[in-house]
Amino acid sequence: MNKVFLSALILSVRLAALAQPFHFPTANQALFEKGGEERFFVGTPGHDWTSGCFGCVRSGGRQMHEGLDIKCLQRDRRGEPSDPVMATADGTVMYMNHHPSLSNYGRYIVLRHIIGGIEVYSLYAHLEEFAAGLKPGQAVKAGEKIAVMGRTTNTRSGISKERAHVHFELNLFYNDHFSAWYKKHYPKEHDDHGIWNGQNLVGFDPRAILLAQREEGPRFDLARWLQQRAGVCRVSVRKTGFSWLKRYPMLVKNDPSLPPERIAGYEMALDYNGLPFELIPRAAAQMKSAAPYQVLSVNEAEYARNHCRKLVTRRGAHWELGREGIDLLDLLTD
Ligand SMILES: [Zn+2]
Repeated sequence: MNKVFLSALILSVRLAALAQPFHFPTANQALFEKGGEERFFVGTPGHDWTSGCFGCVRSGGRQMHEGLDIKCLQRDRRGEPSDPVMATADGTVMYMNHHPSLSNYGRYIVLRHIIGGIEVYSLYAHLEEFAAGLKPGQAVKAGEKIAVMGRTTNTRSGISKERAHVHFELNLFYNDHFSAWYKKHYPKEHDDHGIWNGQNLVGFDPRAILLAQREEGPRFDLARWLQQRAGVCRVSVRKTGFSWLKRYPMLVKNDPSLPPERIAGYEMALDYNGLPFELIPRAAAQMKSAAPYQVLSVNEAEYARNHCRKLVTRRGAHWELGREGIDLLDLLTD
């Protein structure tokens, strides 16, 4: 083979790998095989593989599952899972929960990544142990071992050996002021994980991401992928300066005719899991209501498909925010 051609080929292979920001968190890649879902996902007891996917897949569609439950491939002599769990992308260790009894995630770890300029947080749960010496603040490479799969959790029913899996999430981050919000909303609960509580992370579907970046190759663009999602509702909020605006400016559609001092709030589009993927600044005169939050519209087809989180509810002919919708907007704009 011609030397120049060979080095061009190697470069293009490298670029293709670079263009795929997210890697599988274990050696299980059956998701990419035809009909491989059964070998990739672990369902809940008595239910098929779809209950191990991301979305309104639990309790007959009434309950959200914010990650993928990925099947174990490797077991030790006692039949316990022993798959290495690997960083999905280059990043930094932000949090390690060493006390499985303090979370339904059991022993879990959160990594921070910058993907296409966007702060993304991956989470890996039910781990048996962390990689030796790993500490918060440490940098990790994509594919680097960070833990060993396990089945730790604080739920009463536990996770059986047969269902051993890693629970894997990709998230954006709601708010640095999470602890104040948590104290107000859960006054009797102990705030064990601070801002690294799963409730402060809003997930999107890692399966869809892995498939999209494979399909699109170097054209894959996370910001565009996030912006193109189906919204379940549009709401207006009479608040400005909240941290999401600074953390995710690529999701804010700035209006050049509206100077910052005239911005009184935002119109935002939320997906069914409560991810605000489009924010448009509004002047006071453009906002119809004096209420802090207002539902502007609901995509009823999307609501019919996915309504496990009660962000909005119908009252007669009108839609209004549900309890979860209000809690979420409080957290987002605190
Ligand atoms: Zn799970």
